[in-house]
Amino acid sequence: MALDTIKSNASHLYKGRELKKAIDWSEEEWAHWGWHQRHRIRNLEQLAQWIDVTEDEEEAFIKTDPVFHMGITPYYASLIDPYDENCPIRLQAVPKMPELDISNWDLDDPLGEESDMVVPGLTHRYPDRVLFYTNHNCAMYCRFCTRKRKVSDPTSMTNKRAYQEIYDYLAEHPEVNDVVISGGDPLSLADKRLADIFEEFSKIPHIKYCRLGSRNLVTLPQRVTDDFAHLLKTYQSRHLSIFFNTHYNHPKECTEEAWDACDRVALSGTPMNNQMVLMKGVNDSVETVSELNRKLLQMRVRPYYIYQCDLAEGVSHFRTSVKTGIEIVRGLRGYMSGMAVPQFVVDAPGGGGKVPVNPNYIVDLDGDSIVLRNFQGKIYRYPETELGFDQITPEVMLPES
Ligand code: SF4
Repeated sequence: MALDTIKSNASHLYKGRELKKAIDWSEEEWAHWGWHQRHRIRNLEQLAQWIDVTEDEEEAFIKTDPVFHMGITPYYASLIDPYDENCPIRLQAVPKMPELDISNWDLDDPLGEESDMVVPGLTHRYPDRVLFYTNHNCAMYCRFCTRKRKVSDPTSMTNKRAYQEIYDYLAEHPEVNDVVISGGDPLSLADKRLADIFEEFSKIPHIKYCRLGSRNLVTLPQRVTDDFAHLLKTYQSRHLSIFFNTHYNHPKECTEEAWDACDRVALSGTPMNNQMVLMKGVNDSVETVSELNRKLLQMRVRPYYIYQCDLAEGVSHFRTSVKTGIEIVRGLRGYMSGMAVPQFVVDAPGGGGKVPVNPNYIVDLDGDSIVLRNFQGKIYRYPETELGFDQITPEVMLPES
């Protein structure tokens, strides 16, 4: 969007009251991530400089902010439709009253991350991989966040001593070869701190892969500077492969700035994967996910997972049925490149891990052949080779009526 349009959207909305602070910026400021960090939208007055705040949003802010702060970068706010309270970008960023509805199924720690924490800031659940929480702040606080219990709380930060304990644990556990660097958002750390982390990993020979989990590509693409891309390139080696995992949830997030940021990451030799969270009103249709995934492929981001919304407290209004996710995957498979078809997963509550959930393409598995249904509903028979091909009559059945 042109800078002038963003500015005029941002300046005339304040419900007739005087703007507390004039909104203005230069091209250079807009291009600098530090400016967006410093001008994050943290209160109602700032929010009203960008959108026509509804009474529901006003009340929701007052009631939710003490437990889960609002924090929106000017860049992300510029993507919001100022007059549509159901804008999919707005739903992800602005508090809504249903966040206060807690269902019987909701859990404080839906993925059981605390119970598998081996040292502060490190969860070790799967045999060969761990999850490292570097910090608990983010460029934006997403309303669907599964870690609301501690994200946005500055008192729950992982400190330097904890970092050392984490490195010691990793060095003592040769079975661990893969570290997911998460948070909060690790890109809230300075490049120097990130370089220190990669440096430590480079010293541990059994750490072969690491996945940087960050939403900055979506909410603050300006953070992905040439210097940061250079840092990634510096630490990519034959011994340590770095991947970038992110969360684009809607095609409106695939902007010019996002494209440029992804280009910098791609040119550093870092593969990017997308982990979309399935959310009611945001992306719960085949059309939206198809458009998103096509754009992601153009940005060289591989659609990797669709997550069923977790059972975290305060996100039940986003939750769709599991069937919705299955139908979305059914609507993608065969209609677009397999590269654009992510795996739909449900993270089993209480630490059960990711369970893949797929449309059923198997009609019958018994006997001398397997009967399959293709994406158009046509039925095909494929031989079970263990029996020997000569015992099987080739057959292609017509589609079911
Ligand atoms: S960036 Fe990630 S950790 Fe931070 S609020 Fe959003 S979803 Fe939660």
